[in-house]
Amino acid sequence: MITSTAWRGKRYAVLGLARSGAATVCALVASGAEVVAWDSDAQRCESLVESVQELAVNLDAVSLQIADLETIDLADFDAVIVSPGVPINKHPIAAKARAANVPIIGDIELFAQARAELPPHKVVGITGTNGKSTTTALIHHILETAGIPARLGGNIGLPILGQEPLPEGGVYVLELSSYQIDLTQSLDCDVAILLNITPDHLDRYADFQAYADSKARLFAMQLPDHTAIIGIGDAPSAAIARSLSARGEHLTKIAPGVCMDQSRWPSLQGPHNAQNALAAINAAQALGVPEAAIDRGLETFAGLPHRMQRIGERGGVAYVDDSKATNPESVAPALAAFDRIHWILGGLAKSDDLDACRPHFDRIAHAYTIGEAGPRFAELLRPHMPVDESGTLDVAVTTAAENARPGETVLLSPACASFDQFRDYEARGDAFRAAVEALS
Ligand code: ADP
Repeated sequence: MITSTAWRGKRYAVLGLARSGAATVCALVASGAEVVAWDSDAQRCESLVESVQELAVNLDAVSLQIADLETIDLADFDAVIVSPGVPINKHPIAAKARAANVPIIGDIELFAQARAELPPHKVVGITGTNGKSTTTALIHHILETAGIPARLGGNIGLPILGQEPLPEGGVYVLELSSYQIDLTQSLDCDVAILLNITPDHLDRYADFQAYADSKARLFAMQLPDHTAIIGIGDAPSAAIARSLSARGEHLTKIAPGVCMDQSRWPSLQGPHNAQNALAAINAAQALGVPEAAIDRGLETFAGLPHRMQRIGERGGVAYVDDSKATNPESVAPALAAFDRIHWILGGLAKSDDLDACRPHFDRIAHAYTIGEAGPRFAELLRPHMPVDESGTLDVAVTTAAENARPGETVLLSPACASFDQFRDYEARGDAFRAAVEALS
């Protein structure tokens, strides 16, 4: 667990007691802070009290009270801590904290405050609308390949405050959504990465510019001689890069469409992964990782589950699980990554068209539709390619396996949510793997 003397004797209100909220409360009370915590889910409150009681066995005293923050006066708190899922543009706690002049922060800000007492280390922060998890996991993997102690945190993996501090020379690799950046004021990343900014989460921001401004704050928090790496494939990201031109050699811009030989990186196929890989390479270079270790890391990266993950090969046919692609925009990079594709798609549609995928239709050898959107997608695709209305994933996999020739790829990239047939996209991906493993 990460603790800090900076929190001793201070008062914090914590809202949201899922994993990161609970880890935050434990880190604070173990540091000698007074905490009032709340979650509308009573079960979460109870399990937090149990965790803190376990902690208390080894401590002189702990101070934790469970109370609905809307019913208490926030005026004498040092900060209100919320999880990134709390919409601070709308939630009453935010207005209440502002009225009481109390800062609203998240666990990443607490981590930033604790850094001075951690063994000397570096921090890499990764943001962007798409590609954050992949790039974060890739940088972490490259560091581990190089024998450098590293931890994943932020929007990925375990809560950062619940993890053991790294020894001297370690690197914390943090995936940062814009919500997390909004709740952070003093994180000076040694390497900060912005991959891209496209319209998303607009329910949480006044407009697109406000969303872009949120991402720009990652760089505003940095010392100017720290490294900034920015993908300049979209206008808002390019504008942020321009605003940092005074950084000179400490600013690296990643242009879109760079041609690279990705043939030795099985889990980093497609143009979007070229961008992610370049960002990771530049970050690793800035951290002094030897080139040989970077190469080995790129080659041995296993990919993240359900994101264009190559799960196996049968008779020269590759099987790729991209179950996380739940809309046509996120399917497009997967279609661009392979040549002759047997495309399994369908589920609960988020949109009525597949326009974002259209430029890649010539790469598709055969489509297999499943789920509720199956008939509609079959009708859309039939003028362009052979289509089977398979109905279920099992049937789609068996039929695709019969049709596919060596060198071709069977790709589950559904362009739909999964809830009509599966618990979530992970269960859908797992079912795909099981169906592939069941092929003789
Ligand atoms: P995030 O953590 O930002 O949601 P992921 O790494 O989980 O991103 O990737 C989610 C999906 O976004 C992938 O399946 C892929 O379709 C798409 N994607 C990944 N990297 C990029 C990128 N650099 N640019 C555009 N789209 C990307």
